[in-house]
Amino acid sequence: MNELHPALQPPGARSNGEPRPGDPRHIGAQASVEPRGVAVAVVAPEATERDVRRLVEHVRAAGVEASVYDVGPGVILLSDVSVGQIDAIIGHDRAVERVFLPDTPYRLARREVQRSGTIVSIGGVPFGGDSFGIIAGPCAVEGAEAILQAARACAANGAVVLRGGAFKPRSSPYRFQGHGVIALEWLAAAREATGLPVVSECLAVDMIETMYPYVDAFQVGARNMQNFDLLRALSDIDKPIVLKRGFAATVEEWLLAAEYLLAGGNDQVILVERGIRTFNAGTRFTLDLASMALAKRETHLPVIVDPSHATGEPALIAPMTLAALAAGADGVMIEVHPAPHLALSDGDQAIRPHELGELAGRLAPIAAAVGRTLTMHPVGERR
Ligand code: PEP
Ligand code: MN
Repeated sequence: MNELHPALQPPGARSNGEPRPGDPRHIGAQASVEPRGVAVAVVAPEATERDVRRLVEHVRAAGVEASVYDVGPGVILLSDVSVGQIDAIIGHDRAVERVFLPDTPYRLARREVQRSGTIVSIGGVPFGGDSFGIIAGPCAVEGAEAILQAARACAANGAVVLRGGAFKPRSSPYRFQGHGVIALEWLAAAREATGLPVVSECLAVDMIETMYPYVDAFQVGARNMQNFDLLRALSDIDKPIVLKRGFAATVEEWLLAAEYLLAGGNDQVILVERGIRTFNAGTRFTLDLASMALAKRETHLPVIVDPSHATGEPALIAPMTLAALAAGADGVMIEVHPAPHLALSDGDQAIRPHELGELAGRLAPIAAAVGRTLTMHPVGERR
């Protein structure tokens, strides 16, 4: 077997100990010419900034390009290196905990970067780790009094983050497009009154600055998952991003969208499985829980489920939420409206606050069975 630096870990050895494709042992053992590629060096938790700077200078002096990312414990990407070169350059450097050669186009989003998983906090509410959190609220912010009433009802029934769109991406230009900036003020007032942090959808780059003071997290909608300008701009801010999966996006494309945010410097990303388009016309979309579980395996980022847009059907919200928790999701986002028949958008899929409360009660035993803690309101310290 190839003699490798102990830090050069395979991305995830098979249980039988055999290397898998992408594992440097695999490459080293089979290729006569050493392949070259990108290597991901995960910074050791005890390494100081000085250690990292020194290592990067050393790598560059050896003629290898190195970029540092503030993701997880810190990551250095080395481009176009061979296994032998990595071993020679990094050697037993104490600034590096492990090195792997990614066999996927996403690098910073890979689970190996942060094996225990990243915890993302929306205004003090944690997503990831052992926590399971409920984000709830109406599809759209419909008025000052309406959002306040909805927020109070959601808080009283198990929600720990409030959702509500001020700007709505609608399939038809004739339908309600959201109340705009004034709705952000109503949303922020509801946050003040209830203590629930808020998440709201950002549709375009030029809205980021306007929204920034009002929201605790920015939602990127399914229709914008591959709006790369928007992702690049949001990678620059210091608030979390709730990234919906596009309804025709593969898991790889979804994780690459997250990679845009990470590569730009924002590692506070929560992924949302919200259903994909299939031949099935019985539900609004098809909830792809297997891909939620796959994403959980592939990335260190928290992954939550939106059963509302996925099913479009109030009666299916509870079973899909219970399944999401049992299957390992880090939370859910549910559309809740005190009077769904009066809702200005997506009323057909909204559940009522008391139904959210009943559902929250049913989640508790499942959470206990799968080693999760349901996050409760009032929440701890604000971020
Ligand atoms: C929403 O959350 O209101 C929404 C528009 O969701 P999606 O982008 O998943 O369709
Ligand atoms: Mn909606």
